[in-house]
Amino acid sequence: MALASFNAMKKSRDNRAGWVSVHKAAKELGVSVPTVRSWISKGRLEGKVAPVVRKHMLINPASFENAFKVECRWCKKVFTAKHPEIAEYCCRSHQILGTQKKRRRQK
Ligand SMILES: [Zn+2]
Repeated sequence: MALASFNAMKKSRDNRAGWVSVHKAAKELGVSVPTVRSWISKGRLEGKVAPVVRKHMLINPASFENAFKVECRWCKKVFTAKHPEIAEYCCRSHQILGTQKKRRRQK
């Protein structure tokens, strides 16, 4: 790692150090969390938006059944494939027909 980027990283960590969460501030001040937020908006407390450390996604289980579906390039039939990202044809014969067509086009 370059020294400059390392120093920048260290600096950003130092900036975060010393800052406390809204919950911790509320506890230390003996007030409620909404009060802390209110005091930030009123300028009574200095607050900043915390950097997002990690985002995680949520998957809708209703989309599970469509995840393996592929449309055959030859007959346009929608079929279920074990490896949907590489599957192109619903069956071997359509694959042969499809690749022949592709080859003919190339000539
Ligand atoms: Zn097909």
